[in-house]
Parts: sequence; C-alpha cells; structure tokens
Amino acid sequence: MEASVVSPVRVAIVGTGHVGATFAYALLLSGLAAEIVLINRDAADAEGEAMDLAHATPLVRPARVWAGGYADCAGAAVVVITAGATQGEHDSRLDLAEQNGAIFRSIVPQIARYTTTAVLVVATNPVDVLTYATIQLSGLPPGRVIGSGTILDTSRLQSLLGERLGVDPRSVHADVIGEHGDNQVPVWSLATVGGAPVRDAARSLGVPFDAGTERELAKATREAAHRVVDRKGATYYAVATGLMRIVEAIVRDQRTVLTVSTLADHEPGDDGICFSMPAMIGAQGVHRIVQLPLDADERHALRRSTDTLRKATSAYDRR
Ligand code: NAD
Repeated sequence: MEASVVSPVRVAIVGTGHVGATFAYALLLSGLAAEIVLINRDAADAEGEAMDLAHATPLVRPARVWAGGYADCAGAAVVVITAGATQGEHDSRLDLAEQNGAIFRSIVPQIARYTTTAVLVVATNPVDVLTYATIQLSGLPPGRVIGSGTILDTSRLQSLLGERLGVDPRSVHADVIGEHGDNQVPVWSLATVGGAPVRDAARSLGVPFDAGTERELAKATREAAHRVVDRKGATYYAVATGLMRIVEAIVRDQRTVLTVSTLADHEPGDDGICFSMPAMIGAQGVHRIVQLPLDADERHALRRSTDTLRKATSAYDRR
C-alpha cells in the first residue's frame, strides 16, 4: 500500500489545567484537529484528561487524543502553551513573570528541539512577557509565536457592549489593544455597531451612552478576570474559545484579523516587546499587523501600556 501524502492536523497542548483542558475539549468538539496531544509535568493528569476526552470521540468527531511528551510536538501544526502558575486574588498578571518565566525556560527549548515548523501560541501569564520569552527561547521567526494577548479582553468588551446596547455582540466591533493586564487600552474612537460609531449606534438604539459609560465598561473589562476568579477560582471558557479562534485561523489559513500579542514596537537598542494589536493570522502565524489611527488619548494610553511591558520584559531579560 502506498504511504498517505495527507498529514493529519496535530495540535499539541502543554499544560492541562483549567485552560489547557478546556481548550482541548473545545478543540475536540470543533473537529479541527485529527490529533491532540496533551503534555504536562504531571503525567497522570495529562493521561486522565486524554482518556476522558478520548471517551467522547465516538459521540463527536474522530480524533486521536493521547498524553505524550515533547517529542510529539514534531509534526504539530500548532503548539499551545498553557502551563504555569495562575494569579492569586490580589496579584497582577505581571507578578507571575518570575515563576512562569522559569517554567518557560524549561519547556520552550524542549518544544523547539522537536519542531521548527509549528506555530507556537502562548496563553500563560503574563502573556506579553512570555510571548517575548518564547520567541527568544525557541529561536523561531517572531511571526510564528503568537500570544493570546487581548483577544480575551476584546471579547469581554464586545460581550459587555452587546449586553449594554441589547444587540448581538457579534454586531459590535470594539478592540482592546496593548497589555493583557491592567494597562490595556480599549479603542473607543474606532468602536462600531453595525458600521456606525458606537455613540451614534447607541443613540439610534435609544440607549444612554457617554464617556462615563465607556469608562464603566472599560473598568468592567479590565477587572473581569478578578471578578470571575473571586466567584469561581479561575477563568477558562472565554480564553479557551479565544485560543480556538487563533488556532482555527492558523489551521485553516484564514488570514483573520485578531487582537493578539506579537513582537512589535522596536526601539533602537532593544529587541522589542510583545503587545497586542490587530494582526492578520494564517498558516504561518502573523502575516501583518494592522496599524490603527488612534486618537491622542489612546496613543498616550498605549504608550503607558508599552512602557510597562518594556520594564517587565527587560526585568525578564536580566534574569
Ligand atoms: P492550572 O493551575 O489549572 O493549570 C496549570 C497547568 O500547568 C497544570 O496542569 C500544571 O501541571 C501545568 N504545569 C506547571 N508547570 C509545568 C511545567 N513545567 N511543564 C508542564 N506543565 C506544567 O492553571 P490554568 O487556570 O490552566 O492557567 C494556566 C495559565 O494560563 C496561567 O498562567 C494563567 O494565568 C493563564 N491564563 C491566561 C489567560 C489569558 O487570557 N492569556 C486567561 C486565563 C488564564
């Protein structure tokens, strides 16, 4: 029999906690991947998750799901990294840089040892610093490393805005850019609903909406993770769905524009930092970043965001 020339789409997931396991489940249901390999420091946990997922395959779509090692990253189209510690109730995401930076120093070289062709997608926090770390540690072209960045904050803002205006959140376009963290920047000047600027759309819909509403929704978006963690201990459904959207854009070469963290903003004498801007994503990772015509306040806020990340990234670099 001739060998098949079709390679099954393989996605490797490193870290099988809340985020990794939820993403694996969403991926299984989507049918996008024929092979899903779960890698975890805690091998029994990865095995348990793989068994549980494999038991669902007859009811959804065929896929081979197994607990593996870094060697299984060979041939993967995408490796999604979710391993690491999570923020405590009062921590900021940047507080995790030291602990998760050390974890990345141990795992990324192992991934890079087995694949030079996969796109690496990072979810672990602080995601902007660790996306930068992954580029440095893997030696991959920067476009092949994508941080989930503010895809989650953008989704949260669109969800809150849709709720406030009483419209399907998919009819809302509003991006959050910059740091996935306390210095994120909602881009109100370019936010639209059904093609109309958001304040005009709100007026047509008969919903009061002014600068105070924008501040209130921005705060709810910024504090969303803490609000969820206070109630149920962790966030994972929305981020896992954001990871799904990124992986779909890669696996199907969709050239989708999503707010994700990529290497940008080079200053003379540094290697740049990672932060989120709308970026076109396809099979090779990030093709292009879309530059936004921000207003003066947004440019100022983005500068504050990138200054914070520059400090956090150089602190990571010095370790
Ligand atoms: P979790 O504690 O449930 O799972 C973490 C997993 O990482 C565990 O399975 C653990 O065994 C594994 N792990 C730890 N060290 C490892 C190593 N050296 N090698 C392999 N596996 C290792 O945490 P979670 O809730 O799944 O969150 C994971 C990360 O995702 C955290 O950093 C969290 O802050 C982040 N997160 C990011 C976003 C985002 O929008 N980017 C959203 C939610 C959570």
